[in-house]
Amino acid sequence: MSRRPSDVRGPVLIGSAVGDALGAPTEFMSLPEIRAKYGARGIREFEGFRGLPAGSWTDDTEMTIAVAWALIHSGHRGDDMEDAFGHEYARWYMTHDPRRSPGSTCRRAGQDLARGVPPRLAGVAGSTGCGAVMRVAPVGLFHLFSPTPGSLISAAKISAYPTHDSVEARMGAAVMAMLIEMAAQHWTAEEATRRVQENYGGTAVGQALRKAYDLRNEPDADAAYAQIGEGWDCTSAVAGAWFAFCRSPSSFEETVVSAATTQGDSDSLASMAGAISGAYNGLEAIPERWRNKVEGYNMLSYLSDRLLDRAAAFWDVDDTDYESLGEDL
Ligand SMILES: [Mg+2]
Repeated sequence: MSRRPSDVRGPVLIGSAVGDALGAPTEFMSLPEIRAKYGARGIREFEGFRGLPAGSWTDDTEMTIAVAWALIHSGHRGDDMEDAFGHEYARWYMTHDPRRSPGSTCRRAGQDLARGVPPRLAGVAGSTGCGAVMRVAPVGLFHLFSPTPGSLISAAKISAYPTHDSVEARMGAAVMAMLIEMAAQHWTAEEATRRVQENYGGTAVGQALRKAYDLRNEPDADAAYAQIGEGWDCTSAVAGAWFAFCRSPSSFEETVVSAATTQGDSDSLASMAGAISGAYNGLEAIPERWRNKVEGYNMLSYLSDRLLDRAAAFWDVDDTDYESLGEDL
C-alpha cells in the first residue's frame, strides 16, 4: 500500500469536525423525530444547537484536539505520552463548554486529572463509553509514519485509559486508530475489515465491525443502525461509524449524512465516520459549503500540519519505548 501523507493534511481533523457539527442537532432526537423533520434524505445542513451557531462542534472535537496536542507534546518515552494525555484531558476538563454535551466519564476522570490524580489511576473503572474512541483519530494520523504497527495500538490504548479503564475502551480505541491509518493509506473497506479480523476478530469490537461491514448493503439503514447499536458505547460507536463509511466509501457527504441521521450518539458517529471518510477521500471530498462554515477551520488545518510535522520528526528516531508499555494493557 502506498503511503501518501501529504494527502492527509487537513481532512481527518476537518472531516471529524464537520461530522460532529452536522450530527450535533440530532444527538438527543429520537429516530421518528429525526425522520419527521429531515425526511428520507436526512440532515444535510449545519444547524445551531443549545445556543451555539450552526457549524459548531461538540465535545468530540474538543477532545480530538486534546489528543492531537498530547501527541505533539509527547516525548519518546511511554511515561511522557501518558502524562501528555493526562495533562491535555485535565486542560480540556477545566476549559470545556458544557453546551457541547461532554460525556459523564470524561468529566469525572477529567476532574480527577485536574486535581493531580495520575493518568493510570484516573480512568473510570469499567467504563465502556464512546469517549475513548470518538477522539482517537489523531493517533491513527500520527502513526502513518511509524515503523511498527504495535506503536499505534499502544498509543491508542494509552490515549484511552486516563478516562476509560476497560478492555473494551482500549480495544475500541486501538481499532478506531487502525481504521484511520488504513483509510489514509487507501485500504478498501473490505481489506481493512479483513485486517481487523485477522488481528482482533475475537474481540467485541472486531466482531461488531464485521457485522457492520456485512450490513453495508442493507437497504433500510435505520434497521441496520438499530442492529449495530446507538453509539453510546465504544463498540457500537466504532461499528456504526464503519457502517456509515462502508455504505458509501467514495462519498464523504453521504457517509456523514447517514451517520448524523441516527438515533443515539449521532455527533460521535458522524464525527468518527467523517474522520475515516476524510482520511480515505481527502480534503476536496468534503463539501465546500461545510468546509466554509465549520468552526475553527484554520485552527484545525494548523493543528493537522503540526501533528504531521511532529510525527515525521518523532519517527525519525528509533528509540521510542512506549510500544512495550501498551502491550500489557
Ligand atoms: Mg458530542
